[in-house]
Amino acid sequence: MAKVDLDWDNLGFAYQPISKRFVANYKDGKWEEGGLSDKANIEVNECAGIMQYCQQVFEGLKAYKTEDGRVVTFRPDQNAKRMYNSAKRIEMPPVPEEMFLRAVDEVVAANKDWIPPFESGGALYLRPYLFATGEVIGVKPADEYQFRLFGTPVGNYFKNGVKPISICVSDFDRAAPRGTGNIKAGLNYAMSLYPYILAHAKGFDENMFLDPATRTYVEETGGANFLFVTKDNTIVTPKSDSILPSITRRSLVTIAEHLGYKVETRPVKFDEVKEFAEAGVCGTAAVICPVGRVTRGDEVINIPSGMKEMGPVLTKLYKTLRGIQLCKIDAPEPGWVHEVK
Ligand SMILES: *Cc1c(COP(=O)(O)O)cnc(C)c1O
Repeated sequence: MAKVDLDWDNLGFAYQPISKRFVANYKDGKWEEGGLSDKANIEVNECAGIMQYCQQVFEGLKAYKTEDGRVVTFRPDQNAKRMYNSAKRIEMPPVPEEMFLRAVDEVVAANKDWIPPFESGGALYLRPYLFATGEVIGVKPADEYQFRLFGTPVGNYFKNGVKPISICVSDFDRAAPRGTGNIKAGLNYAMSLYPYILAHAKGFDENMFLDPATRTYVEETGGANFLFVTKDNTIVTPKSDSILPSITRRSLVTIAEHLGYKVETRPVKFDEVKEFAEAGVCGTAAVICPVGRVTRGDEVINIPSGMKEMGPVLTKLYKTLRGIQLCKIDAPEPGWVHEVK
């Protein structure tokens, strides 16, 4: 394989096709074995289920190079399980965990030259997804599907230093009560684009969505869960059936408990936000991105940790999780870091 020549220190978060991706088709009630492909483009029928009724679910995870030259992924089994659950919610044949994990390993192993060097702080972002290729015109689940997993090299999220974000409470809702907020599906993102563009136009980085039924509880942003820290260093994270169960958030909670912090996973009233000492959002992209300001209409809440840096407790959690991902710190549970040979 020819050595890949990219400007590793200046990668952003943009799609860049790499050598190989994994493709497997579901037909006649079963999954084929699947394997690597050179083809980045997909041809589907004009009446494919994905084109008409949006049957699609996806995942996101990263492969990293460690300082001693190993290549690792972080808890890929959790992504496999989550996509399994997402698929069932929209009547798609779930991708078996074995195939999902094999796809991650095969794509990472076949594209090692596309993984940014350790020193750059970047990663190979992996995007597994499942969509309906079978034809449907009357509303029903399709009977043919494709599972794909591609990767794209991405830069260090904090290459210009950690910068807290300013967010606003959206006038729109992200997910209906008893809807699809707890699965990772493209449809949840399509409807968040309008509020996202609106927030940007008003100078905010992100939206905070509230619970759609009462608009009194904090849910999440369009693509990341919240973590708060109280003045006495208790970690608080919202609980709701319409929040997407972030693997980063669940990992940080486990780490926090191991470090001896008190953690509360419970409904969080918006009225509590002004009492917190630190706030952040968490997800695969940044691990933790601090939130410095929350605006709801005329009310502006300046989080005490401010707009210059991440607060001390979130910094501790961030450094511990990054240390685990890069094999510098032992994980609190076995199997968190998976080496790809
Ligand atoms: C993917 C996603 C997250 C973050 O999940 P991670 O597993 O930590 O990357 C949070 N919220 C939503 C809506 C998401 O789609």
